[in-house]
Amino acid sequence: MTDIILLGPPGAGKGTQARRLVEDRGMVQLSTGDMLREARKSGTEMGRKVAAVMDSGGLVTDEIVIGLIEEKLRGATGAGFIFDGFPRTLAQADALGALLGRLGRRLDAVIEMRVDDAALVARISGRYSCPDCGAVYHDETRPTRVAGKCDDCGSENLVRRADDNAESLKTRLMEYYKKTAPLIGYYYHAGDLFSVDGLAAIDEVAGAIANILDQSRVA
Ligand code: AMP
Repeated sequence: MTDIILLGPPGAGKGTQARRLVEDRGMVQLSTGDMLREARKSGTEMGRKVAAVMDSGGLVTDEIVIGLIEEKLRGATGAGFIFDGFPRTLAQADALGALLGRLGRRLDAVIEMRVDDAALVARISGRYSCPDCGAVYHDETRPTRVAGKCDDCGSENLVRRADDNAESLKTRLMEYYKKTAPLIGYYYHAGDLFSVDGLAAIDEVAGAIANILDQSRVA
């Protein structure tokens, strides 16, 4: 069992690479962004609370996010986890360490996906995805073969995220640099940090991640 974190700014390709690891290695993707999007659809009180925060590009409280992860990890066994978009603060990182420790698990690698800001803006502003299978597309660099239809599962429900616009992206990037980027130093000193060039082609990034997992003999 291999537990890893994919760490990087919005648009770095964390979700795309997580899906590859699910397909290639049978790992389990735990995306707090996906959990929160699910929660807001449910119309619960928590859903209503998080919706406005997410749309503005701010971070949802540690308490809510840690609670969601705790629920998913309860009694977890077997397949390795890919933490995608979590942790995003130092408090979340501490909580994750404690949760994994209680389960007798530990982080095997934290993979930082490095991408410069100009590329992130371009990537995010053209992004759309399939809510049914999770495939991610881009107007210019990776459009669907047939307009409006998912290449992978044929769904015609393709969507753009409400927070994938210039204004909330600005907030999301600031939140990343203020609250999440310090985790790079945190995990470097814990000895768990690896970096990949997130600007490379999807297959190359996937290859670099596979090398890290194989070389550190964690997968
Ligand atoms: P993502 O899909 O990872 O880009 O997340 C979308 C939005 O969900 C973020 O902009 C935050 O508002 C919220 N979110 C996701 N993960 C977290 C987290 N670990 N901590 C706080 N807020 C989060």
